[in-house]
Amino acid sequence: MAQANHNYIAGEWLAGASEVANINPSDLSDTVGMYAQADSTQLQRALDAANSAQKEWAKTGLEKRYTVLMNIGNELIARCEELGTLLAREEGKTQPEAKGEVYRSGQFFTYFAAEVLRQMGDSADSVRDGIEVDVRREPVGTVAVISPWNFPMATAVWKIAPALAFGNAVIWKPANIVPASAVALARIIAKQDMPEGTFNLVMGSGSEIGQQLIESPMINAISFTGSVPVGRGIAKCAVENFTKIQLEMGSKNALAIMDDANLDTAVACALGGGFGSTGQKCTASSRLVVHESIHEAFVDRLVEGASAMVVGHALEASTQIGPVVSETQLKQNLDNVELAKKEGGELRCGGEQVERATEGYFMTPAVFTDTRNDWQVNREELFAPMVCVIKVGSYEEALHTVNDTRFGLTAGIVTTDLARATHFRRNVRTGCVMINLPTAGTDYHVPFGGRGESSYGPREQGQYAREFYTHVKTAYISSGIPA
Ligand code: NAP
Ligand code: MG
Repeated sequence: MAQANHNYIAGEWLAGASEVANINPSDLSDTVGMYAQADSTQLQRALDAANSAQKEWAKTGLEKRYTVLMNIGNELIARCEELGTLLAREEGKTQPEAKGEVYRSGQFFTYFAAEVLRQMGDSADSVRDGIEVDVRREPVGTVAVISPWNFPMATAVWKIAPALAFGNAVIWKPANIVPASAVALARIIAKQDMPEGTFNLVMGSGSEIGQQLIESPMINAISFTGSVPVGRGIAKCAVENFTKIQLEMGSKNALAIMDDANLDTAVACALGGGFGSTGQKCTASSRLVVHESIHEAFVDRLVEGASAMVVGHALEASTQIGPVVSETQLKQNLDNVELAKKEGGELRCGGEQVERATEGYFMTPAVFTDTRNDWQVNREELFAPMVCVIKVGSYEEALHTVNDTRFGLTAGIVTTDLARATHFRRNVRTGCVMINLPTAGTDYHVPFGGRGESSYGPREQGQYAREFYTHVKTAYISSGIPA
């Protein structure tokens, strides 16, 4: 019999107070499974268990912690095909995209396994004679991890792996429409030799169990990826308890395409950054800021490329764009297509709901031209397979347009001019910048994050992650023997 999809709390798999169905967005007749929903009593149990297990985990030797993280990472990598299929089935990204996400999740664990052994501090002489100073890092305690649906595994793993590496306990509340990847990962973590309660999976809705989790004074840190309104609510809550926070939120990334751009590169960057993962990426290039002298040639090629992309079932080999994640998201996308038309944009292709052999949330990729940066479609995050082209007359105007947003996660420029590329890299107001590359697509060993309303708190990933997952302690040491 198949294992039940339970919460993992204090080292035990617990049935929930209720269950929700996880539906495949490529085929609404396919129920991936029923998933337990935790109640307040179970959450309290997770908090108690995490608080006591964390003290044991922090004392666990480095090599053992290293082995635990390596085991998890290696298993994810070895099973990326199977778990990628599950992820694609529940979320709707294509099988290669989903497999890549699971593989990358494994790499986060193996990277942070190595970081376990790289926990070096500083030492110094005191300004007072005969006294030494030792600066070292200690775990923050119990970390609440709250992740979004668009990268069900990776966004959670890039928090869980460093949290565990630096000796913290974790309570993970995944997005409730993608619980299958969460349970699959929890099963791998549960096999490891760790104090019971070091890692807990608590499933349920954000507004109920998520809210209770972030309000708890037993949480020492909250790492959140999701939307701006929820992030803002978490920030207010965290201040009340002085809980450490790290928020990764929405964006409105722009890709600038200059008159000197290589056209093939420009089109490839725009298609990949605009429509990868069905446009449901915080790093998606939803604004294409295009120099007027290359505008017609670029738009023709872009429309040709977008129209040729195959929209279909996430698990079909020919599919290039999987379905939108949910009915709510699809409706919102179609509303945004109407909004762009109403604001005066010209729809050059796509933007329509389409039918396939199975009933699902399929939509063709939309390209709008003749849009303006001050329109709502260019101010608010779309999270859709939809791009809006904004025509500009100069590099200076392009840079100004790219920066004219309240967000600031990523930006890109396609140019063969070194001086412009350098100027852009130095003057764009984002956390990440891409030169002749799509705005989406980042590495795991270097920092990731943004500015403005895109991010709040220390950076995620790479060695920069330790800033959030550790406290610094400064010790003064005297021999105690008078000189
Ligand atoms: P969301 O609605 O903000 O939800 C994110 C997570 O927060 C989910 O687990 C959600 O649970 C939970 N949540 C909702 N209300 C909560 C509350 N009051 N207290 C505690 N937790 C709560 O975002 P989403 O729709 O899942 O994801 C899309 C957003 O994520 C986009 O804005 C996107 O840009 C952003 N994103 C950012 C990055 C980045 O690194 N910058 C990466 C990926 C995605 P439920 O889903 O169960 O309600
Ligand atoms: Mg689903």
